[in-house]
Amino acid sequence: MNLQRLRNYLEGRTESRTQPVCAYLYDLAHLRERADRLRQSLPSRCKLFYAIKANSDEPILKALLNHIDGFEVASLGEIRHVRAIDDSATIVFGGPGKSDAELEGALDERIMLIHVESEHQLRRLDWIARCRNQVADILLRVNPASVPQQATLRMGGQATQFGIEETQIPAMFEFIRTLPGIRLKGLHIHAISNNLDAQTHLALMEHYFNLAEAWQRGYGLEFDWLNVGGGIGVNYANPNAAFDWDSFCKGLSMLIARRRPGFQIVFECGRFLAADCGYYVAEVTDVKTTYGKHFAILRGGSHHFRLPVSWQHNHPFVVLARDSWCYPFSRPGVHDAQVTLCGELCTPKDILARDVTVERLRAGDRVVFLLAGAYGWHISHHDFLSHPHPERVFLDNC
Ligand SMILES: *Cc1c(COP(=O)(O)O)cnc(C)c1O
Repeated sequence: MNLQRLRNYLEGRTESRTQPVCAYLYDLAHLRERADRLRQSLPSRCKLFYAIKANSDEPILKALLNHIDGFEVASLGEIRHVRAIDDSATIVFGGPGKSDAELEGALDERIMLIHVESEHQLRRLDWIARCRNQVADILLRVNPASVPQQATLRMGGQATQFGIEETQIPAMFEFIRTLPGIRLKGLHIHAISNNLDAQTHLALMEHYFNLAEAWQRGYGLEFDWLNVGGGIGVNYANPNAAFDWDSFCKGLSMLIARRRPGFQIVFECGRFLAADCGYYVAEVTDVKTTYGKHFAILRGGSHHFRLPVSWQHNHPFVVLARDSWCYPFSRPGVHDAQVTLCGELCTPKDILARDVTVERLRAGDRVVFLLAGAYGWHISHHDFLSHPHPERVFLDNC
């Protein structure tokens, strides 16, 4: 996080009474540095991909190109976003609802691996590939029977729409042998989201290795790839207690040295790569007290930044005080108090942080929400109530 770049931007902006600040700022230099650092600390045999659904803006994809090993996409639209910035970047393609058009698009666009999520998807891909005299390289997406820990969201270890149940996988191996349009290259397991603990994530990796190796032995298979998904978390409750990536990498490198897997390991991270490069900054337009509680109203809200509402958390923020005050009457504000940060929408759900303690917050100050680079703008309902969109600024130093 580099708040200085953000301060510089705000200082360079012309102050305007009629246009309170409302902006997303993305620090591209920081994003590149982060990608380099994460990728370099991974053990050999590991690849770092970026799951673009976290933030698919063109400058973000361009900044990451050549600083990661490839892109994970989940729709034909996302395939096109990547192809728009590079014709030859490595792409892998997941998603439970791939249409025939998307499967055909994937073959047209030279996707490296298609992650197959059901028997019907497998049959359709085989059929489409054979009609084109092609063979599709795939990973089977496994929904493991158990996942050894808790997490904010779970896609596996329980009944969900994702992937193929563990007990049904052996039958898929046998079935694939009869499909000339399919070449099985390994497994894909993305079972949890936002895990904050490096040790339990390591246990998860070991569990996936066990599954892959037992199946290789049992069915005479040789996998080239084990895709272990994303799901490495970002600590919104305490940004200073981040997922311990270095000890995770150390443990992983010991695991790999011990097991000597024949396959390569793919990480497809979204949140862990992109969250930290983005800020959402909104100016306070009003402060008031009703029935004993303080509320600050922001120019902005959950229509731009739905993440805190979606996850029902108080999003971390800092206050950037602004001294100038243009009105000939007093400035509303609170001191050493608990305040609820609300957006401008006409719904009581438009809250970004509830009853949070601030030293001082006044109309005209700016609230900067941290860790807003992933699943921020891209998951939000931008046109609800027809307020102007935020400025979207991509800061770079080159
Ligand atoms: C969303 C998603 C990811 C990225 O998850 P993060 O939690 O952002 O790391 C990776 N793989 C698949 C299949 C996904 O759906």
